[in-house]
Amino acid sequence: MIPFSPPRIDDKVIDAVSEVLRSGWITTGPKTKLFEKQITNYVDSKCTIAVNSWTMGMHVFLHWWGIGEGDEVIIPAYTYCATANTIIHAGAKPVMVDCDPSGFNLSIPAVREAITERTKAIVAVDIAGFPCSYNEINDLVKEEQIKAKFHAATDVQKKLGRIIVISDAAHSFGAQMNGKRTGSLTDVSIFSFHAVKNLTTAEGGAISFNLPDDFDHESIYRQFSAKILHGQSKDALAKTVNGNWRYDVEEPGFKCNMTDIQAAIGLVELERYQENLDRRKQIFEMYDRFFSNEYWADCPIHTTTDKTTSYHLYQLRIKGIDEEQRDLIIQKITEKGVSVNVHFIPLPLLTAYRNRGFKMENYPEAYAKFKNEVSLPVYYNLTNEEVQIVCQAVKEAVEHVLGRQNY
Ligand SMILES: *Cc1c(COP(=O)(O)O)cnc(C)c1O
Repeated sequence: MIPFSPPRIDDKVIDAVSEVLRSGWITTGPKTKLFEKQITNYVDSKCTIAVNSWTMGMHVFLHWWGIGEGDEVIIPAYTYCATANTIIHAGAKPVMVDCDPSGFNLSIPAVREAITERTKAIVAVDIAGFPCSYNEINDLVKEEQIKAKFHAATDVQKKLGRIIVISDAAHSFGAQMNGKRTGSLTDVSIFSFHAVKNLTTAEGGAISFNLPDDFDHESIYRQFSAKILHGQSKDALAKTVNGNWRYDVEEPGFKCNMTDIQAAIGLVELERYQENLDRRKQIFEMYDRFFSNEYWADCPIHTTTDKTTSYHLYQLRIKGIDEEQRDLIIQKITEKGVSVNVHFIPLPLLTAYRNRGFKMENYPEAYAKFKNEVSLPVYYNLTNEEVQIVCQAVKEAVEHVLGRQNY
């Protein structure tokens, strides 16, 4: 079976983790701090806090920004559930918008239409690693009539004076727009280092800050270092130094720090990340070459004059089929020993959001993207031969199903 996206766990990773295990310091410490610095350098943000998941990074961030009861946060309908759940747990209302007809990312005109006097944030999701149209989103929130609608409820909101733009960059670590990487394209970006993501720490995430210069990012870094550790004024490592045991709890915080065991994996992953991106790019290009010759195939847009994907997911679409045919195609592909996936089931199709009143018919583009989508395997050591096996398996499965429908 060709797997969908196995993590790269080799001797280099095992040695790095063993070194941490043997060092006597396994929780947040020097490796985590180094990992944060290297992410900041790589994405060119103003500071970065490593956490134990994208989800917890988002929770802590929304708490700090003061998002809660009565607030609205705009998100795409086409995303993973974490994007909505964190907003719901903050007590705010997720407001979903449809995909842009050109691709899987959210529609900017739909975002504009969704803005009300209660809108506090826009969470743009870089689906498959392809950056959203951040020039347009960043310009939109700065328009005078949009700013006039905005009601700041907390000091940080007052300071910004407009809707904050949050990038759900769970897929897009290393992606670029206008020569700048995600992490430096919006006010704040949150990454996921979950096992299936491009860069993994088994579980993990990071918040990269890039707020305007009148925000003190050194102070933000200090505040968040405490916030992710119960609000304790000193972390465990600081307390071990020279009988420095006494600490204060400045506010009730969260508990979602990254450990040095995780960071050790991340440091190895980051060191060879370009190699990973280069291989992913080659695989994308092989899929493009193969499928662009098939009349039924709709290849994903992953590179434009101003944007380059992080090559996270290859979202192939099969023209003219419905959900049932897609599911049958997936079954046939699986029978040929190839693992594929679907990204994503739009949120309005899931019980939790349907029960909150979201209706799929209000998101026709998202449904159109979902119903004929199949994500193909992409990872560092998928060989050229395996790519050809995937291509053939998809072609045979599609022809089998389309043939049966008398196409
Ligand atoms: C994976 C993912 C998340 C959640 O990341 P975790 O690290 O598992 O919390 C959020 N948003 C999107 C789009 C994702 O794919």
